[in-house]
Amino acid sequence: MARLRVGCIRWQNHGNDIHGDDNHVLAQDAVCLLDVPTHKTGIAFTKPVDPLMGEAIEAWQKTRPTQPKMLDRKTGERVDLLFAIRARRVAKHYINNAIIPTLCRKSGVPTSDVRGNITSHRARSTIASQLYNAKEPMTLFELQAWLGHASPETTQHYAKITPNTLTRAYKDAGYFERNVRTIEVLLDRDAVTAGEAAFGEPWQYYDMGHGLCSYTFFEQCPHRMACAKCDFYIPKNSSKAQLLEAKANLQRMLAAIPLTDDERAAVDDGQAALDHLLSRLADVPTPAGPTPHQIGVPATATLLPIVDVRPGPPRDAGR
Ligand code: SF4
Repeated sequence: MARLRVGCIRWQNHGNDIHGDDNHVLAQDAVCLLDVPTHKTGIAFTKPVDPLMGEAIEAWQKTRPTQPKMLDRKTGERVDLLFAIRARRVAKHYINNAIIPTLCRKSGVPTSDVRGNITSHRARSTIASQLYNAKEPMTLFELQAWLGHASPETTQHYAKITPNTLTRAYKDAGYFERNVRTIEVLLDRDAVTAGEAAFGEPWQYYDMGHGLCSYTFFEQCPHRMACAKCDFYIPKNSSKAQLLEAKANLQRMLAAIPLTDDERAAVDDGQAALDHLLSRLADVPTPAGPTPHQIGVPATATLLPIVDVRPGPPRDAGR
């Protein structure tokens, strides 16, 4: 800022420069461009800035008293520095030590916070983060050009991702939806109303296609995707399952089951992934106690049938 030069602002409309008194064209579509001289992190460049900034600089240029040319310490040229008065340039720390504390005082905000003093560098970092996290954000390379950085590594320190952006990106990635499957659950309302459920009797049954799981915490069973058929297992062709399915007061609902990476691979990637899952669980105890090895589960277990790939609203189709 201290080294900006007179005439550093330019206006464009649809890619064409606007000159002189064309200001009436500035009303809507004008873009304000700021010419930034060679600086500590890169060469001279031009960046778009808010029109308010261009108007403020133009207002200052109109009232700025004529000043002698001064030496630009970076380039060795003699130039018309924008911010100069009484033949003196802006002091090195004037912005951070005088202007920003004055602005903070005027606007009633503290001059420091937990991260330290409010400085021009903090403002630059904040704007960079906001542009990076905007609804239609700048890419890292666009931000690098806008900040005038020579390398993207420098820009990364400025472009901090906000929790909102992270949440949006996570949702867009669809990780949760990809890892959730839905299965049918049968609720025995008779067992609930008769109070049997309170005494530990089964009252909800997870429909695994080939059989029902009566374990209340089915979701926590490590064998749920390829059932080890422990004591909680009720084969579909057993008389118990048929009696249950014939009940009038049976309610069917859907339950969403979040899958682990191994389980999703077993569902999506076929036999090899299923075999891997089965061998990993071979010696893991079932909720009833014995491991699949001890139960003697056949190597080709049947996978949990998937009703739907996304969690849907509970379906209440009482039978
Ligand atoms: S192993 Fe037992 S608890 Fe686990 S899903 Fe199969 S029947 Fe249910």
